[in-house]
Amino acid sequence: MAIAPVHEWTLLEAARRVREGEVSSRELTEALLARIAALNPKINAYLTVLPERAMAQAAACDEERSRGTIRGALHGVPVGLKDIFCTRGVRTTCGSRILHNFDPPYDATVTSMVLSAGAVLLGKHNMDEFAMGSSTETSHFGVTRNPWDLSRIPGGSSGGTAAAVAAAMCFGGIGTDTGGSIRQPASLCGVVGVKPTYGRVSRYGMIAFASSLDQGGPITRSVADAALLLSVIAGYDRRDSTSVDVPVPDYLAAAGARVNGLRVGLPREYFEGGGLDPAVKASVERALKALTDQGATAVEVSLPHTSYALSTYYLVAPAEASSNLARYDGVRYGHRAEGSAGLIEMMSRTRAEGFGAEVKRRIMIGTYALSAGYYEAFYGKAQKVRTLIREDFGKAFGQVDVLLTPTAPTPAFRLGEKTDDPLTMYLSDIYTIPCNLAGIPGLSVPCGLSAEGLPVGAQLLANHFREETLFTAAGAIERAIPLPRVAPITG
Ligand code: GLN
Repeated sequence: MAIAPVHEWTLLEAARRVREGEVSSRELTEALLARIAALNPKINAYLTVLPERAMAQAAACDEERSRGTIRGALHGVPVGLKDIFCTRGVRTTCGSRILHNFDPPYDATVTSMVLSAGAVLLGKHNMDEFAMGSSTETSHFGVTRNPWDLSRIPGGSSGGTAAAVAAAMCFGGIGTDTGGSIRQPASLCGVVGVKPTYGRVSRYGMIAFASSLDQGGPITRSVADAALLLSVIAGYDRRDSTSVDVPVPDYLAAAGARVNGLRVGLPREYFEGGGLDPAVKASVERALKALTDQGATAVEVSLPHTSYALSTYYLVAPAEASSNLARYDGVRYGHRAEGSAGLIEMMSRTRAEGFGAEVKRRIMIGTYALSAGYYEAFYGKAQKVRTLIREDFGKAFGQVDVLLTPTAPTPAFRLGEKTDDPLTMYLSDIYTIPCNLAGIPGLSVPCGLSAEGLPVGAQLLANHFREETLFTAAGAIERAIPLPRVAPITG
């Protein structure tokens, strides 16, 4: 059998081949840098590419291996990071003009975990500004295009990472998910994305959007790759006060386990209503059949407070964002408006120039929701509804092991289609947001193609710290529904 071109290998295959000396890290890195040079001008998945640094890292990995040293599970394997993770001495913009010149003096914990596992850093991925968006169109540095159809958006906010993985411009990447930003772009780009349990992956050095919801996680071309990458970045970090000290199970083994006897819940509320595209519904039904054919049982469940999730999120997330983004004042780092008369004028001009429209909208909503006299009515009330949503999941996981739903209501839409209508854009995350509010883990796995040949993902949700159940169910879906994992790059 002919060996697939280097860029098409899975992360797991690439790691094994480097470890066993079948290929050098330099060969892998060169192949992917060539792929980035050819495709990035069309797709704009990378904001920063690091050719010299990557080649030097690859050479060091090859040299170490020749002496018998393997750093870890990703030894010599080229990956990318969403430009929200701080990288020491490497520009980190968060997709914003306000950080266009920010060179962090330290690495995020995720960055250092990936590097100490031996990965080669190819560069930093494009994203919606401060991770606010569902299409990567709010980036200050231009939109990322979907490699399955260049006239369409890749989803967001981790659209750069999902597009880079789908177009085989890296073997895997790390994104972040506050309301769906890993799972929704993974679904729209035909790749696997995991939002871990809140507290599973350190948020230290990950630029904050909504601190009680944000979580980093892997985006890859296979379920096993996601399992491997999560096992590299998961774990307790004393520098993140919300990090939880529980052991990291063997996710890779879970990805190959059988689903026999697994109870799969179908939340009624996720399939009702007019917004669900028929092609998405049919693909998710196929995913369910894949599970039941392999011995799982389907159970209908109810999550009665689902319809309140979107409005709850759009109070909690902007409120936390307005507070987190107060630090961008032109004094400490990033952009500073020049020629101002005094401090107040400098700060307000810096923020006026540095933030885009969507970020300003969120800051205004959040500031309003937190203002004296309104705090209890808005933020306080939203927190109460959030508890009810969390309790719905608790009850459901008394009956089932995993929930199966669509990830996004539609396949990838066209560039510009929803930019003038924030409310329609916000509906892109209707199925992914409840998971963040409850703090549970969620995963999107490809399960079909629409009539136009666009990828569709199924979402799996499990109870807190049960990521292994997600990998088991997703592995079974992946084995039963073979799909192309490298996007055809058309349009
Ligand atoms: N699209 C959602 C928003 O705009 C979620 C973003 C995210 O998960 N970071 O807030």
